[in-house]
Amino acid sequence: MGADVIVVGAGVAGLACARALVLAGHDVVVLEARDRIGGRTWTDSALGVPVDLGASWIHGIDGNPLWQLASAFGIDTVEFTVGSFQFDGRPIAWHDPSGARVADPAGFVADLHTVDELLDDAVAAAPTGTSYAAAVEAVVASLGWSGDRALRVKEYLAHRSEDLCGAPVTDLDAHGLEEEHVPGDEVVFPGGYGQYARALADGLDVRTGVVVTEVAQNDERVRVTTADGAVFSAASTVMTVPLGVLQADDIVFDPPLPDPVAGAMQRLGFGVYDKVFLRFPTRFWGSDWVIRQQGPAGVDWHSWYDMSRVTGEPVLAALVGGAGARRLEQLTDDAIVAEGLAALRRMFGDAVPSPDAVRITRWAADPFARGSYSYLHVGASTEDHDLLGSPVGRVQLAGEATWGADPATVHGALRSGLRAASRTVGRPITALELTRPLV
Ligand SMILES: Cc1cc2nc3c(=O)[nH]c(=O)nc-3n(C[C@H](O)[C@H](O)[C@H](O)COP(=O)(O)OP(=O)(O)OC[C@H]3O[C@@H](n4cnc5c(N)ncnc54)[C@H](O)[C@@H]3O)c2cc1C
Repeated sequence: MGADVIVVGAGVAGLACARALVLAGHDVVVLEARDRIGGRTWTDSALGVPVDLGASWIHGIDGNPLWQLASAFGIDTVEFTVGSFQFDGRPIAWHDPSGARVADPAGFVADLHTVDELLDDAVAAAPTGTSYAAAVEAVVASLGWSGDRALRVKEYLAHRSEDLCGAPVTDLDAHGLEEEHVPGDEVVFPGGYGQYARALADGLDVRTGVVVTEVAQNDERVRVTTADGAVFSAASTVMTVPLGVLQADDIVFDPPLPDPVAGAMQRLGFGVYDKVFLRFPTRFWGSDWVIRQQGPAGVDWHSWYDMSRVTGEPVLAALVGGAGARRLEQLTDDAIVAEGLAALRRMFGDAVPSPDAVRITRWAADPFARGSYSYLHVGASTEDHDLLGSPVGRVQLAGEATWGADPATVHGALRSGLRAASRTVGRPITALELTRPLV
């Protein structure tokens, strides 16, 4: 089967790229391994209300093409500015290591501001190969803090690394949280992120259940082979599979991808971040948007998000990244729920009821993700993300891991897809162009 362009992967990067190319007059086929589209945006209704098992937030709406496109598609959103592991701004309930509510967290929050401001300079001065943990350690030491005061701040920043990068703070490069932050409110989709992929895919030729195993190119064509032996050929291909899939060598490139792509692929990290949704018969928590547990009891169970703000039903979501996520993925659902309930009862007492329904993700175990999102592993540099997206003959990689300004996000994925399409078409393509219907 022949096409102008084969796009591999029907996540936001692949769908945006394919849509832009078709609108520019190209013949495009999208090959997707799963039996659904959306990739790491995945809305599920097992709890009786839509919840997002992958991405939830648009991280900052001001000037964000993802937001502009969501608005143009007419997809409803709700403001929920707690998605970047913020420590103030919106109501957060802090619980001390004993489980008791911290009556006045102002001092702790002021400490976080102090360290955050000093961290910028410490990171800027950090030599190559410095971890985020070492940068934090140096700042806390320079302040002369010790004991619980130092511990609380360091554990918070470790959880921030696990949350935003899916990585242990000792694996994250000091520069790993330097990317651009889009200003403005953060919003989520009450009807789910799945609406976004559906709008992008409308009218496209997307083949689901097609697992790509090999990509071969010569001077004339590119040949894409699938697990069931089918062969597709085209003038070029845009590969948007997650970095974890590439690092696992699940797809053979012939000839192998050279530097700088191969080197960047090896240096970057791919983190894990999972969600545990519990739907309760009644709401037993207060009106705070997020509930955070400090100390040893919060190593893995540090953050609960009140999803009733979004779903209208009594649903809490525990979000866990890094080593905690990898550990939980090895447990049964029952064991995970038992741990989660113990964590909640520590804060809210034994009257916390058992959940009526549960939904738990395991992104590292998913063969078409092999993790959640990319991060700057110690020794990698910010440029590595964009180097990963350098065209190699007829093959281009796209997807969140290839967008250096804002990796690990849906808007990064969108922009990387548009960049790949722009290179093929030979002119810049804006997100809003994607609202045009395909004829
Ligand atoms: C739990 C979680 C929470 C997140 N939260 C947020 C958030 O709140 N906000 C935010 O901005 N970002 C968030 N992200 C990150 C965001 O989801 C991703 O950055 C973005 O969706 C990636 O899009 P993509 O198109 O690059 O990749 P993907 O969406 O992963 O698309 C790649 C596609 O390739 C397919 N594929 C894989 N292997 C093959 C193969 N061999 N053959 C054919 N197809 C294949 C996959 O099935 C997939 O559909 C989160 C991610 C996770 C996992």
